[in-house]
Amino acid sequence: MYPYTADIHLHADGKRNGRSRHGEKPKVLATSILESGVDVYAISEHHYVTEETEKVHSKLAGVMTGRKRKREIVGFDGVELGASYKGLPFYIGYVFENRLDEPKPGDFPDHGIDISGAEFQDWRAQHPGIAVVNHPIVTHREKQEDMRIDYTTAMLADGTVDGCEVLNGAILLNGKNGSSVRRTVGAARAFIAARTHRRTAAIIASSDAHWGKYRMPEGVKGKGKIVTGPGCVRTRFIADSPADFLDAVRDGRTKAVVAEQNKIRQVVEEVLEQCPELANFLRLKTED
Ligand SMILES: [Zn+2]
Repeated sequence: MYPYTADIHLHADGKRNGRSRHGEKPKVLATSILESGVDVYAISEHHYVTEETEKVHSKLAGVMTGRKRKREIVGFDGVELGASYKGLPFYIGYVFENRLDEPKPGDFPDHGIDISGAEFQDWRAQHPGIAVVNHPIVTHREKQEDMRIDYTTAMLADGTVDGCEVLNGAILLNGKNGSSVRRTVGAARAFIAARTHRRTAAIIASSDAHWGKYRMPEGVKGKGKIVTGPGCVRTRFIADSPADFLDAVRDGRTKAVVAEQNKIRQVVEEVLEQCPELANFLRLKTED
């Protein structure tokens, strides 16, 4: 048994969505996944698995060849679904247990699918994998926050989803006017409440990196701006092999880790002041 880490919320589809907004070049992303030291990653583009995802997998194999230190890195196909739960919109990160050879219609539920219904569970049965509610508390819907916390607790407690992305790198780094702390505290409270009902609800920490490096590169709008890179926050689990990640999530055997960037660590320390129970599910450093 060995401790491994995972970052399952990465974007690589700059080609379709425009580089400035959404997505690193596959080779740069592959290199920074390797350099971040994570053992598991998933590319989770909005609503589809694109050819860029496959390129990241193959570029990573390429950059690993020729590096002296051989270690296993397991890459999964993922998708970020725009869904709803009892009428409220949520983003669901889905990580497929098996690679999709050629994504086809039916591989993804309809946009806006109500995941509280049987339809989503039927789809899940046909497409094994884990479901995570990504960044459940959204800034621009501040008025709904209490409701969003309750619904997140409910979907974790009833097993609609396996885990909750309590730490999201982009929110921790970029939120303004205390919104990073507020949103993270909201997600943490939802998760902790859910654990009292269902011990296997898993905590997830993901970068939501749209860039491979910690600064936006030359030649794009916003160049030089500090952004989150792969693995800045990550999910830790103990297993025989990194490939066992999905089982660790299903069993709720995960911890959230803050690996990089002082600003993120400061925000998480403020979150802990408001939500001290989170300390049971958190490490402020990878090595702790
Ligand atoms: Zn995302």
